[in-house]
Amino acid sequence: MTEGKIRAVFFDRDGVILKPIVMDGRPRPPHSVAEYKALSGVIPSAKEVVEKVKAAGFLVFLISNQPDIAYGVISKEEWHDIQNTLAGVPFDDVFICFHRRDDNCSCMKPKPGLLLQAAEKWNIDLPNSFLVGDTKDDVGAAHAAGVKSVLVRQPYNEVLSADVIIDTLSALSAVVE
Ligand SMILES: [Mg+2]
Repeated sequence: MTEGKIRAVFFDRDGVILKPIVMDGRPRPPHSVAEYKALSGVIPSAKEVVEKVKAAGFLVFLISNQPDIAYGVISKEEWHDIQNTLAGVPFDDVFICFHRRDDNCSCMKPKPGLLLQAAEKWNIDLPNSFLVGDTKDDVGAAHAAGVKSVLVRQPYNEVLSADVIIDTLSALSAVVE
Protein backbone atom coordinates (compact mmCIF):
# COMPACT_ATOMS: atom_id res chain seq x y z
CA MET A 1 0.00 0.00 0.00
CA THR A 2 1.23 3.49 -0.84
CA GLU A 3 2.35 5.35 2.32
CA GLY A 4 -0.45 7.22 4.08
CA LYS A 5 -2.96 6.63 1.33
CA ILE A 6 -6.22 4.79 1.76
CA ARG A 7 -7.70 2.19 -0.55
CA ALA A 8 -11.18 2.77 -1.94
CA VAL A 9 -13.97 1.00 -3.72
CA PHE A 10 -15.89 3.15 -6.18
CA PHE A 11 -19.42 2.02 -7.02
CA ASP A 12 -21.30 2.96 -10.14
CA ARG A 13 -25.00 3.64 -9.44
CA ASP A 14 -27.28 2.29 -12.17
CA GLY A 15 -26.89 -1.43 -12.77
CA VAL A 16 -24.69 -1.85 -9.69
CA ILE A 17 -26.44 -0.29 -6.68
CA LEU A 18 -29.77 0.23 -8.45
CA LYS A 19 -31.47 -2.32 -10.67
CA PRO A 20 -30.99 -1.29 -14.28
CA ILE A 21 -33.94 -0.74 -16.57
CA VAL A 22 -33.11 -2.62 -19.74
CA MET A 23 -34.72 -1.37 -22.95
CA ASP A 24 -33.80 -2.88 -26.33
CA GLY A 25 -30.92 -4.69 -24.66
CA ARG A 26 -29.42 -1.51 -23.20
CA PRO A 27 -29.47 -0.34 -19.60
CA ARG A 28 -30.70 3.04 -18.50
CA PRO A 29 -31.60 4.73 -15.21
CA PRO A 30 -35.24 5.39 -14.24
CA HIS A 31 -36.77 8.53 -15.74
CA SER A 32 -39.32 9.06 -12.95
CA VAL A 33 -40.12 8.02 -9.40
CA ALA A 34 -42.99 5.87 -10.74
CA GLU A 35 -40.62 4.05 -13.06
CA TYR A 36 -38.09 3.70 -10.25
CA LYS A 37 -40.71 2.07 -8.05
CA ALA A 38 -42.02 -0.20 -10.79
CA LEU A 39 -38.82 -1.24 -12.58
CA SER A 40 -35.76 -0.22 -10.58
CA GLY A 41 -34.94 0.29 -6.88
CA VAL A 42 -31.95 -0.48 -4.70
CA ILE A 43 -30.54 -3.98 -5.28
CA PRO A 44 -31.39 -5.86 -2.06
CA SER A 45 -27.81 -6.80 -1.17
CA ALA A 46 -26.29 -3.41 -2.05
CA LYS A 47 -26.33 -1.77 1.38
CA GLU A 48 -24.89 -4.88 3.04
CA VAL A 49 -22.12 -5.17 0.43
CA VAL A 50 -21.08 -1.52 0.84
CA GLU A 51 -21.11 -1.93 4.64
CA LYS A 52 -18.89 -5.04 4.39
CA VAL A 53 -16.39 -3.35 2.09
CA LYS A 54 -16.26 -0.36 4.42
CA ALA A 55 -15.79 -2.61 7.46
CA ALA A 56 -12.85 -4.22 5.61
CA GLY A 57 -11.08 -0.83 5.72
CA PHE A 58 -11.88 0.67 2.34
CA LEU A 59 -13.34 4.09 1.72
CA VAL A 60 -16.54 3.68 -0.31
CA PHE A 61 -17.78 6.10 -2.94
CA LEU A 62 -20.63 6.43 -5.38
CA ILE A 63 -19.33 7.57 -8.72
CA SER A 64 -21.88 8.14 -11.47
CA ASN A 65 -22.71 9.80 -14.78
CA GLN A 66 -26.18 11.36 -14.48
CA PRO A 67 -26.83 13.46 -17.59
CA ASP A 68 -30.59 12.89 -17.68
CA ILE A 69 -31.53 16.14 -15.87
CA ALA A 70 -29.51 18.05 -18.48
CA TYR A 71 -31.18 16.03 -21.26
CA GLY A 72 -34.59 16.93 -19.79
CA VAL A 73 -35.75 13.33 -19.41
CA ILE A 74 -36.16 13.59 -15.63
CA SER A 75 -36.90 16.58 -13.39
CA LYS A 76 -34.37 17.67 -10.80
CA GLU A 77 -36.92 16.95 -8.05
CA GLU A 78 -37.63 13.40 -9.16
CA TRP A 79 -33.93 12.74 -9.67
CA HIS A 80 -33.25 13.81 -6.08
CA ASP A 81 -36.16 11.73 -4.78
CA ILE A 82 -34.60 8.68 -6.41
CA GLN A 83 -31.06 9.53 -5.28
CA ASN A 84 -32.33 10.06 -1.72
CA THR A 85 -33.40 6.41 -1.52
CA LEU A 86 -29.66 5.68 -1.29
CA ALA A 87 -29.33 7.72 1.91
CA GLY A 88 -29.11 4.52 3.98
CA VAL A 89 -26.12 3.21 2.00
CA PRO A 90 -23.07 4.41 3.94
CA PHE A 91 -20.98 5.97 1.16
CA ASP A 92 -18.16 8.19 2.43
CA ASP A 93 -18.77 10.56 -0.45
CA VAL A 94 -20.67 10.88 -3.72
CA PHE A 95 -19.20 12.14 -7.00
CA ILE A 96 -21.62 12.75 -9.85
CA CYS A 97 -21.15 14.13 -13.35
CA PHE A 98 -24.32 15.99 -14.40
CA HIS A 99 -22.95 17.05 -17.78
CA ARG A 100 -24.31 16.11 -21.19
CA ARG A 101 -22.16 13.88 -23.35
CA ASP A 102 -21.48 16.78 -25.77
CA ASP A 103 -20.34 19.11 -22.95
CA ASN A 104 -16.91 17.54 -23.29
CA CYS A 105 -16.26 17.72 -19.57
CA SER A 106 -13.36 15.94 -17.91
CA CYS A 107 -15.52 14.09 -15.39
CA MET A 108 -17.89 11.93 -17.44
CA LYS A 109 -16.81 8.30 -17.36
CA PRO A 110 -14.92 6.81 -19.26
CA LYS A 111 -12.81 9.86 -18.42
CA PRO A 112 -11.12 9.57 -15.02
CA GLY A 113 -12.14 13.03 -13.66
CA LEU A 114 -14.54 11.87 -10.94
CA LEU A 115 -12.04 9.32 -9.67
CA LEU A 116 -9.23 11.85 -9.69
CA GLN A 117 -11.37 14.38 -7.79
CA ALA A 118 -12.10 11.74 -5.16
CA ALA A 119 -8.44 10.69 -4.98
CA GLU A 120 -7.34 14.27 -4.41
CA LYS A 121 -9.96 15.00 -1.78
CA TRP A 122 -9.56 11.73 0.15
CA ASN A 123 -5.88 10.86 -0.46
CA ILE A 124 -6.72 7.58 -2.16
CA ASP A 125 -4.30 4.82 -3.14
CA LEU A 126 -5.62 4.46 -6.70
CA PRO A 127 -3.53 1.48 -7.89
CA ASN A 128 -4.86 -0.58 -4.98
CA SER A 129 -8.45 0.58 -5.36
CA PHE A 130 -11.41 -0.81 -7.35
CA LEU A 131 -14.21 0.54 -9.52
CA VAL A 132 -17.30 -1.65 -9.64
CA GLY A 133 -19.42 -1.04 -12.72
CA ASP A 134 -21.62 -2.56 -15.39
CA THR A 135 -20.66 -0.79 -18.62
CA LYS A 136 -17.76 -0.10 -20.94
CA ASP A 137 -17.55 3.46 -19.56
CA ASP A 138 -16.92 2.11 -16.06
CA VAL A 139 -14.16 -0.21 -17.23
CA GLY A 140 -12.70 2.65 -19.28
CA ALA A 141 -12.73 5.07 -16.33
CA ALA A 142 -11.07 2.46 -14.12
CA HIS A 143 -8.28 1.97 -16.63
CA ALA A 144 -7.90 5.71 -17.21
CA ALA A 145 -7.55 6.37 -13.47
CA GLY A 146 -5.34 3.35 -12.84
CA VAL A 147 -7.72 1.49 -10.54
CA LYS A 148 -8.76 -2.16 -10.90
CA SER A 149 -11.97 -2.70 -12.84
CA VAL A 150 -14.66 -5.00 -11.49
CA LEU A 151 -17.58 -5.78 -13.79
CA VAL A 152 -20.89 -7.03 -12.44
CA ARG A 153 -22.09 -9.41 -15.14
CA GLN A 154 -25.40 -8.41 -16.72
CA PRO A 155 -27.12 -9.68 -19.87
CA TYR A 156 -26.14 -6.47 -21.68
CA ASN A 157 -22.41 -6.60 -20.86
CA GLU A 158 -21.56 -10.18 -21.79
CA VAL A 159 -18.98 -9.09 -24.38
CA LEU A 160 -17.07 -6.84 -21.97
CA SER A 161 -13.98 -7.86 -20.10
CA ALA A 162 -12.45 -6.34 -16.98
CA ASP A 163 -9.77 -7.09 -14.40
CA VAL A 164 -12.33 -9.02 -12.36
CA ILE A 165 -15.83 -10.20 -13.30
CA ILE A 166 -18.43 -11.10 -10.68
CA ASP A 167 -21.86 -12.64 -11.27
CA THR A 168 -23.57 -10.61 -8.55
CA LEU A 169 -22.64 -7.67 -6.34
CA SER A 170 -22.67 -10.01 -3.33
CA ALA A 171 -19.52 -11.67 -4.68
CA LEU A 172 -17.58 -8.42 -4.26
CA SER A 173 -16.37 -8.88 -0.69
CA ALA A 174 -14.26 -11.90 -1.75
CA VAL A 175 -12.58 -9.76 -4.45
CA VAL A 176 -11.61 -6.68 -2.44
CA GLU A 177 -10.14 -8.35 0.67
MG1 LIG B 1 -24.13 1.64 -14.72
